[in-house]
Amino acid sequence: MGIVVYPGSFDPITNGHVDIIRRAAILFDRLVIGVYDRPDKALLFSVEQRVDMIREAITDLPNVYVETYDGLTVDFVRRMSSRMMIRGLRMNSDFEKEFEMAEMNKKLAPNVELLCLMTTHQYQCISSSLIKEVVRCGGSVTGMVPGHVERALREKFSCG
Ligand code: ADP
Repeated sequence: MGIVVYPGSFDPITNGHVDIIRRAAILFDRLVIGVYDRPDKALLFSVEQRVDMIREAITDLPNVYVETYDGLTVDFVRRMSSRMMIRGLRMNSDFEKEFEMAEMNKKLAPNVELLCLMTTHQYQCISSSLIKEVVRCGGSVTGMVPGHVERALREKFSCG
């Protein structure tokens, strides 16, 4: 089914993201994870660190690639020779935000389509921001992020 782009900040990648990536990678010939360089929110990890952590989480997926981008997501999608992007949807938190963004993207690039995958039940409550807060407060996030991501988080918050 061609090339699909999965854009996001991935600060850091969680098992919720990995689940979306694995499911989408089956549906498309090639999946490009687009790591948004400078989102309008405070970041914990540099873009290089975010990319490295993603790469380590997807080593067994030969049709998945990681690229960074700045500027409009729809422009990045077109640069990747794609017309399709995917986003993950959790039950309450994501819908309004994604709907608003989709409306705007449709105005900017009418021929780019958005496909939303519903999160798997067990990842419903996992977000990068919550994960960071839990580790910062000394809690365990085992099973919610890949092992190397948990280690990187512990190092950042010096509780490791
Ligand atoms: P952004 O800053 O663009 O929202 P994120 O890294 O937070 O970037 O999220 C990227 C995408 O992954 C978004 O579509 C988000 O809804 C989705 N996502 C985040 N966490 C999960 C999860 N636990 N399950 C499914 N999708 C998720």
